[in-house]
Amino acid sequence: MKKLQLHWQILIALFLGVIYGLFFPDYVKYIAWMGDIFLRALRMVIVPLILSSIISGVANIGTAENLGRLGLKTMSYYLVTSTIAILTGLFFVNLFQPGVGTDLGLVQEVEGLGIAKESFGQTLLNIVPLNIFDAFSSGKMLSIIFFAIIFGYFITRSGRSSRKTMTDFFNAVFEVMMKITMFIIRFTPLGVFGIMALQVSKSPDIIGLAKNMGLYMFTVILALAVHFIISLPLLTKFIGKVNPLKHFRAVTAPLLTAFSTSSSSATLPLTMQAVEENDGVSNKITSFTLPLGATINMDGTALYECVAAIFIAQAYGVELSFVQQILIVVTALFASIGAAGIPMAGLVMISVILTAVGLPLEGVGLILAVDRILDMFRTATNVWSDSCGAVIIAKSEGEILKVDNEKRGFKFPKFF
Ligand code: ASP
Repeated sequence: MKKLQLHWQILIALFLGVIYGLFFPDYVKYIAWMGDIFLRALRMVIVPLILSSIISGVANIGTAENLGRLGLKTMSYYLVTSTIAILTGLFFVNLFQPGVGTDLGLVQEVEGLGIAKESFGQTLLNIVPLNIFDAFSSGKMLSIIFFAIIFGYFITRSGRSSRKTMTDFFNAVFEVMMKITMFIIRFTPLGVFGIMALQVSKSPDIIGLAKNMGLYMFTVILALAVHFIISLPLLTKFIGKVNPLKHFRAVTAPLLTAFSTSSSSATLPLTMQAVEENDGVSNKITSFTLPLGATINMDGTALYECVAAIFIAQAYGVELSFVQQILIVVTALFASIGAAGIPMAGLVMISVILTAVGLPLEGVGLILAVDRILDMFRTATNVWSDSCGAVIIAKSEGEILKVDNEKRGFKFPKFF
């Protein structure tokens, strides 16, 4: 028998969790631990996952040719598109305010936690840790990411034998961490079941919550659509001088794979093949930009991080100051860079932002149930941005592409 796909399992668990919470609220204590363990396990992997993902990503750049110029162009593209994505998310979440009025029954737990009172300047200063081991053990994500980038960079500057040992080591650690994370993710249906049952049994306003979650999903998907359909195609057309519709057609298979697997990393071989063979980008460009992109360029994730964090703040009735919103934009960018290209990595990273602005970590429980569905949309956006980037960079390096020469107009792929 074919195994039921994870997103179906999650949807079923979600439904069962709601039923359980509604009809057996007194028995929720017997199953709530499932959600607890699941969230704890996710938090357990955060530090080693980010550390190994970034160090190995940065160290591997060192092995590519033309590191300097290509690296600079690639990084600029990643930063610019991710920032545009985050600002798009920021706009829509402020416009629709999906979290406002959510009755969580949790407000008292927020009290006493306090919102980060530090100035923006101090927060930036704190990125440089006094003691890196303290940063690891207390989960200071910005410091950890900062250290990882520096560490990865200086691996590329070390002698040949140290460089190889360290790069191999961190690649291996990253692989193991990905495996552990994938293992934890297999238990998502159980976690969702426990968390939903608990949420529903606590929340007196099921319909209101469902309405808020619906609006939240709509906000994320609409903002992603704007980035996917408008922003990235405009960049492809005006900076890359490539017809975005033709490029879309070239990469339909990886996009569908990204959508259904929710993993940029799993999709990577297909993306490389499509961009090389259908777009006609050289292997030199694809082998540098696409693996790097699958690890650190996540426009969809960046946008999602921003919307989700502000949604949680709205749900907890926390007014965010301008500085805090800026802090969310900056940390969303870091979080998307740090997120691994695997299903639900973005969910793990939300805690980075929540910690940075002093929002309750329990807020993750609120968005968990619909995360896997939104993951499909954001992963497709991530891969779309990687592929547009490869084409734009190839053109800027003077390559003549196959998509340039294709005379035929846009046709929808055969499956439609
Ligand atoms: N699933 C996403 C990806 O692989 C990462 C995320 O969870 O946002 O690109």
